[in-house]
Formats: sequence, C-alpha cells, structure tokens
Amino acid sequence: MTGRSRLKVGVDVPWVTSWSQEEVLGVRPCASLGGGLALHQAERPEFGRPNYSRNHLNRQRWSVRRMLCPMCGQPTSHGDRWTQTGRLTTAGVLRARGLGPAVPADVADAQVVLNAGAIAPLHRACAERALAHCPHLGALPSTELLPFPERLTVFPLTIAATPPHVLAAAPAAPIAVVTFLQLCGVTAETDPRWRRGLRDLAPDPLTSDPA
Ligand SMILES: [Zn+2]
Repeated sequence: MTGRSRLKVGVDVPWVTSWSQEEVLGVRPCASLGGGLALHQAERPEFGRPNYSRNHLNRQRWSVRRMLCPMCGQPTSHGDRWTQTGRLTTAGVLRARGLGPAVPADVADAQVVLNAGAIAPLHRACAERALAHCPHLGALPSTELLPFPERLTVFPLTIAATPPHVLAAAPAAPIAVVTFLQLCGVTAETDPRWRRGLRDLAPDPLTSDPA
C-alpha cells in the first residue's frame, strides 16, 4: 500500500475518477438505485494512483443520480450544466442503434437529444478547467461546451452476474447487475430531417461485401 497522493481530488484529479487502492468489492444493493443490485467499489480517493480512464463505480452512479459535477463532486443546477463529450443526435437514431431505453417512449423520433453516455454534466468553470488540463479533452474534434437540457433520462448499464453456487441448490441463473448509469438529455428542438442520420448507420457500399 502506498500513502496518500499529493494529487488532490477536485483540483488535480476529477472527483469521479477511480484510484488504484479502491478495489471492486462485488455485488450489493445500492442506495443510488433505490436498493437495486450494483457492482460496488471501495471508497479510498487520493490513495494510490488515479486511473484517469476509469470512473469509480459508486461515485459515477451518484454523479448521475444526484447531478453531481464529475470534476468537483458538488451539485449542479439547471442553467449551469455543461457537457463537452455529449453528442447531439435524435431519438430516432438512438432507437435505430438499439439504444431505445435511452429516451422516454413519449419522445418523438425527430426530437433532438443529447447523448451524454456515462458522463454527468459539469459546472461551466469545472468544464473549462478540465479542458485546460486534460490532453484527451483538448484533442477531441469539438471543444465546444453544450448546455445540458433540463429534461433527461437515466438508464443503467448492466452486466450479467451469476450468484454464488449454493450446495444442493440448482445452479442459479445470471442476474442483471448495474455498473454505471448513463444519461441522455431531451432538448426542445426537433429535426424534421432526422432520417438522414440513419444513413450513417447503413453499411458503406465501398467497404461492405458486395454479395
Ligand atoms: Zn464542478
């Protein structure tokens, strides 16, 4: 075990980032899911090394459930919620990609949505600080910050886990266990020509098999 890092959460390292001494503990009910089963991780930020490519399981879920800024861990409020990594698309395109659960059933296909994946919106000041310090964010095609819509949906990313084998019991069936929560904003805009977005989903005639 190594001691406390000199790097500070919320200053040098995003609040939601995982640290090397935060081991994955297994499956437990989680308050962030109202008691639903989730994969849990020890809470030991600032110990070991930050793993920038890996979000902490519990902190990520709370960031979406409580709209906590992934950078500083403090609540964001409507009007100061921004995303650089979210992508504007339409509900119809998400459905065509098999991501129907990302959008509410009553949202029309032409509705423009902001697919944020697993990254909750940031405070503007935090987003600008992250952009200035993170080489990955600075290298993305767009460094524009998009305002996050007030209306949003949350949908879980799950894995199949097999309960421990119990003597004399039949092998248990795998159960769905939540890892991360994803979110998608619903904007007030519509795109009447949203079906053009489906063309990107079709196989490329130059590279697909002509058979
Ligand atoms: Zn913040």
